[in-house]
Amino acid sequence: MLIEVIKEDITKLQVDAIVNAANNSLLGGGGVDGAIHTAAGEELLKECRTLNGCKTGEAKITKGYKLPAKFVIHTVGPVWEGGKNSEDKLLANCYINSLKLAEENNLETIAFPAISTGVYGFPKERAAIIAVKNVWDFSKNTKNVRKVIFCVFDDASLLLYQKLLR
Ligand code: ADP
Repeated sequence: MLIEVIKEDITKLQVDAIVNAANNSLLGGGGVDGAIHTAAGEELLKECRTLNGCKTGEAKITKGYKLPAKFVIHTVGPVWEGGKNSEDKLLANCYINSLKLAEENNLETIAFPAISTGVYGFPKERAAIIAVKNVWDFSKNTKNVRKVIFCVFDDASLLLYQKLLR
């Protein structure tokens, strides 16, 4: 399995699934969530309304509608509250549960944003270490997924992931 990092708007990626850093309602929000809903169109919100939300660390899948990506895997990262509220474990679960869903749906290529590192305030380097470790561990047992892309949005994160992947 390949693991790479790119600096790009995740809504532009032509992959089997992009992961959305959603909130518990799954009904849209700011940041990457807002960008995904805007690019996918109203139909995405309509499908999300049928899902009854999502618990932190869990993941749910929808179609991609107007996105170039075929599917969206919605996962809810933890809000950073200082690190003593199982934030590390919950963030790891986001990556693990999203990858499990991709496997179950026979998806081959999947792109992740840096979950929880925007308004949810998770320290970027700590989050990147968790992201890379969990994708790396998962890559040893994957059957369908053959490429994971870390899709970051700023130069500092690009350098950070490049360092960790080396
Ligand atoms: P959270 O609420 O989980 O913190 P945010 O959307 O606020 O989610 O931020 C998560 C990360 O996604 C941040 O690092 C932010 O820079 C990045 N981001 C925002 N918009 C996009 C986009 N269009 N494509 C990829 N990454 C994005």
